[in-house]
Amino acid sequence: MRDYYDIAIIGGGMVGASMAVALSDTSMRVLLLDSSVCSPAPLPEDYDIRVSAISVASKYYFQSLGIWSGLQDFRVSPYQQMHIWEKQSGSAIHFDGAQIGEDVLGYIIENRAIQYYLLEKARRSGNIDFFDSLSIESCAVRDDRVKLTLTDDSRITCGLLVGADGNRSKVRSLAGIDTKGWKYDQSALVATVGTELPHDDTAWQCFLPDGPLAFLPLADNMCSIVWSAKHHQAQELAGLPEDIFERQLAEAFDFRLGSIKLCSERGVFPLQLQYARQYVKQGVALIGDAAHSIHPLAGQGVNLGLLDSASLVDVILEGARQGKPIGSVALLRRYERWRKGDNLGVMFLMDAFKRMFTTEPGPLKSARNAGIELVNSINPIKDMIMKGASGLRGELPTMIRDGKLAE
Ligand SMILES: Cc1cc2nc3c(=O)[nH]c(=O)nc-3n(C[C@H](O)[C@H](O)[C@H](O)COP(=O)(O)OP(=O)(O)OC[C@H]3O[C@@H](n4cnc5c(N)ncnc54)[C@H](O)[C@@H]3O)c2cc1C
Repeated sequence: MRDYYDIAIIGGGMVGASMAVALSDTSMRVLLLDSSVCSPAPLPEDYDIRVSAISVASKYYFQSLGIWSGLQDFRVSPYQQMHIWEKQSGSAIHFDGAQIGEDVLGYIIENRAIQYYLLEKARRSGNIDFFDSLSIESCAVRDDRVKLTLTDDSRITCGLLVGADGNRSKVRSLAGIDTKGWKYDQSALVATVGTELPHDDTAWQCFLPDGPLAFLPLADNMCSIVWSAKHHQAQELAGLPEDIFERQLAEAFDFRLGSIKLCSERGVFPLQLQYARQYVKQGVALIGDAAHSIHPLAGQGVNLGLLDSASLVDVILEGARQGKPIGSVALLRRYERWRKGDNLGVMFLMDAFKRMFTTEPGPLKSARNAGIELVNSINPIKDMIMKGASGLRGELPTMIRDGKLAE
């Protein structure tokens, strides 16, 4: 252990680990610390029940970070199309990548595979130290230095403290940064299933009265499901005997993929919308779910976090090249200006979708159904939505631009 690091990243999840890899082999001395583990655990054959729909922009970032070919050799499921419908009315929208000249709209990848390849890559770098099973107890900012006390009472100093420690971020609370938002009345039930009919490399989403039910395509004609429902319903579904659960799932999904076989345990995650009022303070920056957490209905959470990570790396490296202190709030505000507006825009758009699709019957619902049909018939609007979801919007961070150029 050193007693000084340029950057201490707290949280080695997908977002924190991506930032460590982005800083590997630079002149920065980096610490990656996690209260759980930040060592790559061997990947089991079974599918992880936690998967992410990864945008094209995130794929470019993974290419620049040098983990894309490893992920592909393991398993990545591209999807070309997305089909969304409302159960009661049958109103539907269909997105096809070919319409915007893309052969894929995104990729379904297991979270633990992303984390494995990131951590494995980070471990091969000479400038990163790792602490497992540790957290921070306190931090004090003095001029250009942040003094940290860790939970084992050891002390270190860093130039910049990065909070990548998820939606209950300790870094955020130690820095005195408030959050706003609300808890949804929904939890998401996730599991891996086999389907009778082929998924056709399509991401499927059916809006039920109590929340969306997504079938995300995996290899071997398996799907990962994300079923958002009222908290008690999600808990009840998780506790049903397998055969009854399978039947209810197939029925809820209008039997679009025929009968269904449950192939994993079921996990339940409460959902919320939360955002930090500030992303930066002197000596501190927040990235990923520590800065924002959103409803998973459009699969954007980790994609936004990866954009944060790539943008913050750009800002820090540019600041360092100009000889500026990397924890200076004036420098860090560039990162905040770059990312906060975009993240808030996506968050509130997803929130509006969630509200729109859980509207009670009545005039608003009829207007919504007409709106869905209208959007489906106007190609320029669909193109705009697909381009927005690809993450390739606004000013792109260097590593995402480089990954795109390298294609
Ligand atoms: C059901 C569901 C489906 C989703 N699907 C998608 C999707 O398809 N696409 C998508 O883009 N997003 C999706 N998301 C969102 C995505 O999972 C999150 O945005 C993403 O996991 C956030 O990553 P992170 O690294 O910021 O935080 P986390 O994954 O929460 O990682 C935080 C890390 O910090 C560590 N940590 C926590 N506290 C401390 C502490 N005090 N000290 C040290 N370490 C600490 C933890 O151990 C962990 O390793 C989904 C979310 C849910 C709930």
